[in-house]
Amino acid sequence: MAGLSAKSDGPPMSKTRRDILHQQIRAIKDELGENDEDEDDVASLEKKMQEAGMPPNVWKHAQRELRRLRKMQPQQPGYGTSRTYLELLADLPWQIASEEHEIDLVAAKERLDSEHYGLSKVKKRIIEYLAVRKLKPDARGPVLCFVGPPGVGKTSLASSIAGALNRRFIRISLGGVKDEADIRGHRRTYIGSMPGRLIDGIKRVGVNNPVMLLDEIDKTGADVRGDPASALLEVLDPEQNKTFNDHYLNVPFDVSKVVFVATANRMQLMPAPLLDRMEVIELPGYTSEEKLRIAMLHLIPRVLEQHGITSEHIDIPEPTVELIIQRYTREAGVRNLSRHLAALARAAAVKVAEKDQSDRHTREMQTEVTQMIDHGGGGLIVEGAEVDMEVEAIGVQRQGSLPLAIKPEPLVVDEAVLEIVLGPPKFDGREAAERVATPGVAVGLVWTEVGGEVLFVESTAMLGKGDLHLTGQLGDVIKESAQIALTWVRARSAELKLPVAEAGSLMKERDIHIHFPAGAVPKDGPSAGVTLVTALVSLFAKRSVRADTAMTGEMTLRGLILPVGGIKDKILAAHRCGIRRVILPERNRKDLQEVPAPILMNMEIILAKRMEDVLHEAFEGGCPWKPATSRL
Ligand code: ADP
Repeated sequence: MAGLSAKSDGPPMSKTRRDILHQQIRAIKDELGENDEDEDDVASLEKKMQEAGMPPNVWKHAQRELRRLRKMQPQQPGYGTSRTYLELLADLPWQIASEEHEIDLVAAKERLDSEHYGLSKVKKRIIEYLAVRKLKPDARGPVLCFVGPPGVGKTSLASSIAGALNRRFIRISLGGVKDEADIRGHRRTYIGSMPGRLIDGIKRVGVNNPVMLLDEIDKTGADVRGDPASALLEVLDPEQNKTFNDHYLNVPFDVSKVVFVATANRMQLMPAPLLDRMEVIELPGYTSEEKLRIAMLHLIPRVLEQHGITSEHIDIPEPTVELIIQRYTREAGVRNLSRHLAALARAAAVKVAEKDQSDRHTREMQTEVTQMIDHGGGGLIVEGAEVDMEVEAIGVQRQGSLPLAIKPEPLVVDEAVLEIVLGPPKFDGREAAERVATPGVAVGLVWTEVGGEVLFVESTAMLGKGDLHLTGQLGDVIKESAQIALTWVRARSAELKLPVAEAGSLMKERDIHIHFPAGAVPKDGPSAGVTLVTALVSLFAKRSVRADTAMTGEMTLRGLILPVGGIKDKILAAHRCGIRRVILPERNRKDLQEVPAPILMNMEIILAKRMEDVLHEAFEGGCPWKPATSRL
């Protein structure tokens, strides 16, 4: 203590002594290789901070931090973090905004139409949204959320909105974010702390009024590290919050000018409070015809441009695109289709590049030959058999310029070229027929985050003790459906005239195994109920299910069929797989309105109220029952 007080109470230092000490410090710094660059560096940082136009409270906070930085030596722990923090403060667009023009609705509509085929309902809703913004530019109406399988144009619609609003566009991927700190940042006391994705996005985009796409908002999940959804709520709630508090930033940032748009694959997984604050626009997936039009009008021109080739180099006729859609893709969106078209474009690009190279080579040879002829060396050349031909060609052209590159022959993509470039077809129309050829297999329709899908349910019996085995990464709900299905079939084995029933119990001395391929994909939900019963009846009755029929529906223990979700996606999926007969719950009748008319006309839709109706329709020649069914 005595030492400390002596220091502070000591006599005032003379100016010369102070100068001498300063000189010494400078000499020591020079010796250590630290000169005034650091000082300059801090000064330039301060200048940058002054220019950033921070609000007064933030500016005060920043200056405090800057004073701390000044007192620190660059080697000191904490110098780096403090500096990085100040850099972030200086880099954030506190005042910078894209210039806002008045929204031109006609131009916006034209833009949406020119960039996207179909989707008329979605486009109409976007125009309404833009109209409201035009009338009330500061309106923070509900956040639009595009919900649909991958590759249906959610991201590209959001970027069109940015274009129409004349704002910059930034996409923040939220898929797999489980830690709240990913969104809100870590406090600076943590080593290696960083701002969250939101503030980082704003820094990257460089303006405070971008269109910010919160991609895959349904994929955030809560765990011990907090709930990312609650952090998102703060930005998405237009009424309550103007600013966002990032833990790293530690000062509020005004996000009221940011236009948020979200995307999700499925609504069910979204936390309810988030869903509540968004306006959901569904994009259920495309029919084959729509995909064909999208490919011809948008994907092919875009892919060719991306690969630096034109229609002079490659010709992909409509029937070939149809083949790609039928045989190589089975998706709701157009991602894979676009990928396959890109593979074809690459093949053409290689051909063009090779040709270009050989043309150049030929031209070089021709130049040499011409020079030799001009120098009277013709005799020499004629000896070389290969060059012989060139001499003739040159003879024709000699008066004028050398022959130009021959006009390229386009690579016409037909079925054979498809197989060479894309490999053998991945799908053919026979899949369902082959798989349900043995009794015990039924075709179900399920709904996943990549849209509707056709799912086969396989069952088999073996010697055992009456147990039920289930495999295929199943959730609790689907496991319970399997229990219900087995109970229902066991309870009605006599009515169903199942052959084994005569030997006593259906499960006597045997186990049943039900498997849902593909085993690697997790599955859950009640809508496989009817398919499970059908598969079991088929197994016990030793009769195959009709291969042209797929089904979906939840069944109660008493055999009533309850409605299920995703009807449009499921029917589109069946159509994609070439299945033309679908059994649905009667209470889903209203959902058929959403299915495009050309698809419905092409399909036979059977509406069932009870499980007996389903069985009757699922087997050739019907089941022992003859219940009344309603057909479309
Ligand atoms: P998502 O975000 O839904 O996964 P994207 O927006 O990334 O899908 O779309 C994938 C690709 O398909 C993009 O190149 C997009 O332009 C194109 N695309 C999707 N739907 C359409 C459509 N209706 N018209 C034109 N192109 C489309």
